[in-house]
Amino acid sequence: MKSALGLGSNLGDSQGILRRALERLEEMDGITLERTSLFYATKPIGPPQPDYVNACAVVETTLSAAALLDCLQLLEQEFDRVRLERWGPRTLDLDILLWGEEVLDFPDLQVPHPRMAERGFVLVPLAEIVPDWQHPVLGKAIADLLKTVDCSGVEKL
Ligand code: ATP
Ligand code: CA
Ligand code: CA
Repeated sequence: MKSALGLGSNLGDSQGILRRALERLEEMDGITLERTSLFYATKPIGPPQPDYVNACAVVETTLSAAALLDCLQLLEQEFDRVRLERWGPRTLDLDILLWGEEVLDFPDLQVPHPRMAERGFVLVPLAEIVPDWQHPVLGKAIADLLKTVDCSGVEKL
């Protein structure tokens, strides 16, 4: 299955963390990294906190979506993510954005990611690598969704 992932960091050496997280992803059994976007500096949502570095990646995986999420959460822990408050600062955040063109709705996993379509920091890097991927709930391509959001706080690094 092809899956799109969102990566974010706003604590520590964020660019170095994202680079290493991508390397670690590629090393995992059952995950092949197909494409990665550039890194973007983005303005945070949620409580006041440092700017983020965000990126997106496309992986090909033989894992289930639940097993992929487990891998992502293990990686977050490897990079010392501490959960203090919702949407608060973190060393590494890894989200599953898309799972083919399927819709998944489990208590701990909703795909497409429920908030991706309103977020410039997701859609800008995602449109860079997979502009034509159809959002299965909204029935629109990523490039079209991008036209509907404010991208003023998103800048290429
Ligand atoms: P947001 O989801 O708004 O981007 P966040 O990434 O800061 O916020 P987290 O604290 O990282 O939220 O995650 C909270 C929970 O979200 C996770 O424990 C996970 O079970 C759940 N979750 C649901 N859908 C997804 C998804 N598509 N990708 C990653 N986590 C998800
Ligand atoms: Ca997130
Ligand atoms: Ca997350």
